Amino acid sequence: GGPAGLAAACALRARGFDAHVFEASEALLRRGTGTGIMVSANGWRALEACDEALPPAIREAGAKISRQNITVCDEDGGVRRAIGSDAAQMEKDYGHAQYNVPWHDAHAALAKMLPDEVVHCGAKATGYAVETGFDLVGEESVRLMLEDDREVRCTMLVVADGAGSALRAQVANSGKVEKGGDDARPTSQLLWNALIPTERLQGVSTELPGIHRPGEVEFVTCGKDGKAILSFDSGAGGITSWYLTLDESDAPEAVRAALSSGEFGGFGHAGRVDALKEEFSAFQGALALLGATEETEIFERRLADRQPLSEDQWYDGPVVLLGDAAHPMVPSQGQGTMVAFEDAADLAECLKAAGVAGPAVAAARYARVRASRAARIQRWSRDA
Ligand SMILES: Cc1cc2nc3c(=O)[nH]c(=O)nc-3n(C[C@H](O)[C@H](O)[C@H](O)COP(=O)(O)OP(=O)(O)OC[C@H]3O[C@@H](n4cnc5c(N)ncnc54)[C@H](O)[C@@H]3O)c2cc1C
Repeated sequence: GGPAGLAAACALRARGFDAHVFEASEALLRRGTGTGIMVSANGWRALEACDEALPPAIREAGAKISRQNITVCDEDGGVRRAIGSDAAQMEKDYGHAQYNVPWHDAHAALAKMLPDEVVHCGAKATGYAVETGFDLVGEESVRLMLEDDREVRCTMLVVADGAGSALRAQVANSGKVEKGGDDARPTSQLLWNALIPTERLQGVSTELPGIHRPGEVEFVTCGKDGKAILSFDSGAGGITSWYLTLDESDAPEAVRAALSSGEFGGFGHAGRVDALKEEFSAFQGALALLGATEETEIFERRLADRQPLSEDQWYDGPVVLLGDAAHPMVPSQGQGTMVAFEDAADLAECLKAAGVAGPAVAAARYARVRASRAARIQRWSRDA
């Protein structure tokens, strides 16, 4: 029931398949993690290929990006260089404008496209079995096991349960559960982010590095590897999305203590705003963003991805991986959801093209189309 699963369900239903969504949470719509999704040209193309009703619904919830600015600063906040690129040129080159949409609004827009009766919440998947001979013609089918002992039988299972996927290891190991291992790759990059009403920044000069102008993206490097400020409009309703990043080696004492005691991560840690204000004291823009934000609105995390999977690890008979379950990536390029939308469109097309050849043939084709592209974008996102 994340953006990947919902987009896939939309794409499949648009082609006449009876796709259902099984979501672990009790409610489909919930608070995001304070991020905005940058929807770029490949995302728009993929959404359109999923279902032509999707792009207008997402666009309506987003803010159009008119310009990207990069400011290179010294450690003491002095500006060394500022460059910018006009988004109109990008729109001309790639055929689509960039929009930023709060994650929860993009999610809600996708959810609205599906009839209530095909979304099943409180349905946590724990494993699956590919079986033959369940029906009279002896076709392969999948038995999905849920945590509450219910089972669901289907002809194809799309595993889209996110970066912490419960089923990824089983799919990647050709259905064998015992061989699964944790291939998570944490980085040393720490991220704090929030979505706030832009009106809270009224009176703050947009000349300060880190404070975006209406419709513009403002990215500031702060003189140390991994130390940066990012802000931009997110969403149609006057929302600013901001991000501060630090390498773990530069983290303030309070953050290091939280990291070693396992209390780092999630929303609202007391004292975090003060610690970040101290670390970013030379950057008035960062101080203004922190000053305009409640501690409870700030989400923190360590950035991580997983090892790219080879083509044969993307599927197990008629079971496929999709979205972050297949290719969790560092969000440096804002591509996680875009690649998930591409997965969704390609999967639906492969299934349609396979026709009577069936889901297992479609799954193999889908893996062939997706694996190397997703791996390339994962590597690019990690190395950037
Ligand atoms: C800071 C940050 C910024 C980002 N910015 C961008 C951006 O600008 N552009 C972009 O394209 N991407 C961006 N991303 C990436 C994007 O957020 C993810 O790629 C996207 O949310 C992945 O969607 P998903 O549906 O695969 O996974 P998720 O969003 O994690 O959804 C998985 C769903 O599965 C459910 N689930 C979990 N386990 C089970 C289970 N066992 N059984 C049933 N259901 C289960 C979960 O409850 C959830 O609803 C960003 C990510 C971060 C962290």
